[in-house]
Amino acid sequence: MNAAQWKWGRSVCRSAPVSYIEEFSVQVMVRVSRVIPGSIAEELGLLAGTELRAVNGREIADFLDWEFLTADEELTIEVRLPDGEDVVFDVEWEPGEPFGLELEPPNIRRCANRCEFCFIEGLPKGLRKQLYVRDDDYRLSFAYGNFATLSNVKERDIARILEYRLSPLYVSVHATPWEVRKVLLNNPRVPNIVEQLTRLAAGGIQVHAQMVVVPGLNDGAVLEQSLTDLWNLGDAVLSTALVPVGLTQFSHLYSGESMGVENARRVLASVERWEARALAERGDRWVYGSDELYLLAQRALPDAAHYGEFAQIENGVGAITALRTRVLGGVGDLPRLDGKRIGVVTGMAMAPMMPELLDRISVQTGAMFELIPLENTLFGPTITTAGLLTGADIRRGLADRHDLDLALIPAETINDHGVFLDDESFIAVRESLPIPVYPSYDFLDALIPEGVPAARSAA
Ligand code: SF4
Repeated sequence: MNAAQWKWGRSVCRSAPVSYIEEFSVQVMVRVSRVIPGSIAEELGLLAGTELRAVNGREIADFLDWEFLTADEELTIEVRLPDGEDVVFDVEWEPGEPFGLELEPPNIRRCANRCEFCFIEGLPKGLRKQLYVRDDDYRLSFAYGNFATLSNVKERDIARILEYRLSPLYVSVHATPWEVRKVLLNNPRVPNIVEQLTRLAAGGIQVHAQMVVVPGLNDGAVLEQSLTDLWNLGDAVLSTALVPVGLTQFSHLYSGESMGVENARRVLASVERWEARALAERGDRWVYGSDELYLLAQRALPDAAHYGEFAQIENGVGAITALRTRVLGGVGDLPRLDGKRIGVVTGMAMAPMMPELLDRISVQTGAMFELIPLENTLFGPTITTAGLLTGADIRRGLADRHDLDLALIPAETINDHGVFLDDESFIAVRESLPIPVYPSYDFLDALIPEGVPAARSAA
C-alpha cells in the first residue's frame, strides 16, 4: 500500500474502506446486524444478533457464502437466534428479491507480507489501533475493489473464487518474476503470481492489476517482464496501473530509492510504449500511470477520454481529471456569491491544479477564492495528498482567518464517524475556528444552493 492508495475514509491496500476496517469483527460466525422492516427476514422472525449457520446444508462462513448460497429459489436456512434457540426455515422466494438482512462486518484477512513501501508501516506511532490493520483479503477485493496480493490465498480460496466466479478481482502484482516479488513483498512464502493468475484466468476470472513501482527493484527490466507476463494473460487482465512508491517520514523499512522526476518519467515512458501497443492490438490503453506518477514526472495529466471507464479511479488513476471534468461540467449551476471570500484548503499535490478550477468558479459566482495549501504535519512533507491532512493541519491553516467568510476542506479528510486521521473530531475543529468550515468533495456539493449549508452561509 502507498499513500495514494491509502485514502482516508475509503480504503486499505488499494483501499479497504477504513471505516469498515475500523468496525471489523473478530468473530468467525456470520451474524445479522439489522433486519429491514417489512422484509422476508422480518417475516421469518429473524433479529439483530441472529447467527446464520447454514443454507441448503452448506455452512455459512462469511458474507460471500450468504450472498451466493441464497441465490436458489428454495432455501433451507439454519439459524441460531439471539436467545440461543436453533431454528430451521424452509423458504421459497424470488432470487434477486432483497432478503432484508444486513450482516455484521466480517473478520478481515490480515496481510502476511511486510512490503518495505507499505504505507501502514509508514504510519506514525500512537494512532488508534484500527488504522494499523493491514488487510489482504480477496473477498474485499471482489466486494469493494480493495487490492489484494493473493499471498494468503489457499487452495480452498481458489476453489471458492472459481465456484462463486468472483470477478473482477483487484490484484497487487507489483512484479511477476517470483524472486523479485518475494523481495518486494518481503515474504519468502508468496506464491507464484503468474501461476495463480493463469489458473484464475482459465476459470474465467478477470483482474485489474496494479504495480507499486520501486526504483531499483521493479522498474526497468522487471517492469517490462511484468507487463509482458500480464499482457500474455490476455483478456484476463483488464487493466494495469503503475503507481509510484510513496513514503512517509516514518517509512522505516524502506531501503530503496525515492521516485524522483527522472524515475517517474522513465516509468511513464514504459506506460506510453505499452499503451500504444494495447491501443493498436486491443483497442484500449490497458496500462495507466497513476495521477501521482504524472505529477512526479511534472507532466500534464491526460484528459477524460484517456481513462475510458476510469476503471482504477479509486487507485488514484484519473481521479484528478475526473474531478476537473465534474467541476467544469457543473460550474454553470453555481449561484452568484458576489464579494464572498472563500478559503479552499488542499494538500500540496493538488495545489497547482486548483487555480484553473477556482478561477472558473470565481467567474461564475463572483466569489473570491483563496487557495490554502497545507503541509501534512503528521506524516511529514513527503505526503502531499489532500485527503490525508489532519484536524491539526486544518486548525493550523485556518486559525487566524477572520478575513474569510467560509472555508472548504477536503471531505476525504473526515471518516464516516466525523473524525480526522489524528482523532480530532470535525465538530471540535469547526467550533475552534473563527469562520464556518464545510467538507467538500468537488466545490459543487458545497456551493450549489439547495439544502447545502455552505451555500446558504455564503449567500
Ligand atoms: S505489507 Fe504490502 S501487501 Fe501488505 S498491506 Fe502493506 S503494502 Fe499491502
